[in-house]
Amino acid sequence: MKNKYCKSLALLLTLGLLLPGCGQKEAQPEAMTGQTTQTETVTETAKEQETGTGTQEADKSVYMDASKDVETRVEALLAQMTLEEKAAQMAQPEQQSITVTDVRQYGFGSALSGGGSAPSYGNKAADWQKRVNELKQAALESRLGIPLLYGVDAVHGNNNVFGTVIFPHNIGLGAARDPELLEKVGQAVAEEVRATGVQWTFAPTLGNPQNERWGRTFECFSERTEDVAADGAAYIKGFQGEKGSAQYLDGKHVLACAKHYIGEGYTVDGANQGNVAMTAEEFDILIQSGLLDPYTAALNEGVRTVMVSFNSVDGLKCHENKHLVTEVLKEQLGFTGLVISDYNGIQQLSGITYKEQIRQAIDAGVDLAMEVTTWREFMENVVKLVEEGSLSQDRVDDAVRRILRVKLEAGLFEEKVGGAEEQELLAKVGGEEHREVAREAVRKSLVLLKNDKVDGKAAMEALRDSKNIRVCGKKAFDIGSQCGGWTIAWEGKSGRITEGTTIIEGLAAQTEGSIDWTHDIKGELAAENDAVIAVVGEMPYVESGGDRKASDLTISSDDAQMLKALRESLAASGKKNIPVIGIVIGGRPINIEEYMDMFDAVIMAWLPGTEGEGVADVLFGEYDFTGSLTYTWMKNPADIERKFEEGNEELILFPYGSGLNKAGKQLR
Ligand code: BGC
Repeated sequence: MKNKYCKSLALLLTLGLLLPGCGQKEAQPEAMTGQTTQTETVTETAKEQETGTGTQEADKSVYMDASKDVETRVEALLAQMTLEEKAAQMAQPEQQSITVTDVRQYGFGSALSGGGSAPSYGNKAADWQKRVNELKQAALESRLGIPLLYGVDAVHGNNNVFGTVIFPHNIGLGAARDPELLEKVGQAVAEEVRATGVQWTFAPTLGNPQNERWGRTFECFSERTEDVAADGAAYIKGFQGEKGSAQYLDGKHVLACAKHYIGEGYTVDGANQGNVAMTAEEFDILIQSGLLDPYTAALNEGVRTVMVSFNSVDGLKCHENKHLVTEVLKEQLGFTGLVISDYNGIQQLSGITYKEQIRQAIDAGVDLAMEVTTWREFMENVVKLVEEGSLSQDRVDDAVRRILRVKLEAGLFEEKVGGAEEQELLAKVGGEEHREVAREAVRKSLVLLKNDKVDGKAAMEALRDSKNIRVCGKKAFDIGSQCGGWTIAWEGKSGRITEGTTIIEGLAAQTEGSIDWTHDIKGELAAENDAVIAVVGEMPYVESGGDRKASDLTISSDDAQMLKALRESLAASGKKNIPVIGIVIGGRPINIEEYMDMFDAVIMAWLPGTEGEGVADVLFGEYDFTGSLTYTWMKNPADIERKFEEGNEELILFPYGSGLNKAGKQLR
C-alpha cells in the first residue's frame, strides 16, 4: 500500500527534528507505508489551536459574483485573505490525514486521495462521493468559503474506485495511434471521476521514456515527443472538454494535469526519481529541441495544472529548479495556471530543515504543495518564512492567485456540492457506455508483432479455423494483471480486484458455441487441442517498485515455468501444424526473445484494463489489428542504451512502428 501516512515523520516534524531524507515515500520501510484509518490523525489534537485565520466576516459580493471576470474576483478575494489563509490555500493534504473540522477551520486549497486511498466508508463510487463532498462542503463553511479542489490519479479510469471502468494504460493508448479515441477515453474517464465529486485528475503523464527499465514506462504514450504531444493534447481535450467551447471544464469534465515536469524518462538507468546526467546547459538544449513540445501542446489545449517531477537534472531536483519551473514553464511558455509538487516531493529537497525545503520549492515556483500529512508544518513554515522575510509576499500572492484563478476558471465557485448532474453521472459509473469506449480502446491498442504461416495460412487466420483451443497461463484469467498498477491499490494486484471481463471470458463469450475452450495454468495440452493461446507477461507494479535490472526485464517466473512446460508438451504431442499464439500482458517491451520460436504469432496487449472482450473482438470478431509500437523493442534489455545508435539493427527485435495485420501485412 502506498505510504499515506508516516506517523513517525509527523512526530519528528512536530518536534522540529526532521532528518534529511525522512518522509521520502520511496525510502520508507514497508512497516511505515501502511494506510491509516480515518480516525487516527494528528490533526484532531490541534483543532483548538490558534490558527491566525481572519475573524471578520468575508465580503463575498465580488468574488462570488459569476458575472465578474476571473481576475477581478481573484483580486477581491486575495485582498481579504490573511497570510495564514493564503498558506492554507497552498496546501494539499491527503484525505486520510484531515478531518472535516480541519477543512472548515483552515480552508485548504486542495485535497487528494493518493493511490489506493479509499474513504473509510467503503470503496464504491457512492462512498467516494460521500467523502469528497463532506470535505468540499466543509470548505464552503470556512470563513472565506473558498471551494476545495479535489484531485485523484485517474490515470486509466477512476482507477482507485471499485466497479469503475479501467481503460488501457497510456502505453497501449499510444499504440492505438488514434487521438480521437484518446479524446473519447478522456471524456469517459472525466465522467467517472466527476461522478464522485472529484474535479481534477493528475493525468496525463507526458514523459517520453528512453529506457523502459523505468517502472513508469507504461504511464507514457511513446518514446517520441511528437507522439506524446499529440496523444497528451487529445487526452487533455477529452478530460477537460474543448478549450473555448461551452463544454470546457463544465460539470462533466475535470481539470487535467500535465506531469511530471520534466526529464523523467531520461534518468540514469531509467531510475524512478533518478538523475538526468547532463549539465543544465545540455538539458536546456534537450528540452528546447523537443522535450517541451508535449507541454506546449498541453498548454495550447488549455491545461491549467502542471505537476513537477521527482527527478533531478545534474543533481538538482526539479522541485527546486527555478530556471525550469519559473523561467521556462511560467515565463517562456507563459503558463498562468498552477504548479503542484509531487507526493511529499518537497521533503526530498536539498535544504537541511523542512522550512528551508519549503522555501526552496515555493521560491522555485511551486504553488500548491502535495504535502500529504505534514500540511500543518507546511502552513506554519510558509507564514514564518514570509514574516522573517526569506520568502517574498509577492511570490506567495502569485501562488495563491494561480490557485484561485484555476478554481474560478473551472467553475468551482459556482459548483453545487453533490448537484443533480453529479448524481446523473454516478448512475453511469461502470456502465455499458463507458465499457464500450474501453473495449474499443483495447481493440485498437493491440499490436501484432509476429504472424508467421501455419499450414500456408497466416497464424491469426489459421486460429479462426480452430475448434478446440487450449488457453495457457494465469494471466488469461486475471483482471488484476490485465489492469496493472494504479488499480484499486496503488501498486495494483493480481486476481479479481474489480469488476470486468478476463481475456478468456472475452474469448469464450465471443465464440460462444463454436469453439471448445479449456484453460490450463501449467502448460499442458490435450490430444483434442487444435490451437494454443499462451497469455504471459509482467505482474502489476508501480513507480520505483517497477524499476528493473536489465536481466529482470522479462516475463514473470511462473509464466516462464509454464512456457517451459508448454514447449515440452508441444514437442511431446507431435502437433506441428497448429497455431500457437502468444499474448503478452505488460507495461513495456520486455525480453521475450528466447520464446519467439515457440510462437507462430505474438500479440502485445499491454495493460488493457477491465474490458477483456476487446482482445476477442480482434482475434475472433470482425476487427483487424491497427496498433503499432511507439517504442523500440530490443532483443536484449541489456542493450536498451544502444537503442538509438546508428547501425544497431541487429540488436532490435521490433523497431519503433512495428505492427502487422491478420493477413501479415506491416501496417506502417
Ligand atoms: C506520483 C504522482 C501522483 C502522486 C499522487 C506520486 O507518487 O509520482 O504521479 O500524481 O503520487 O498520488
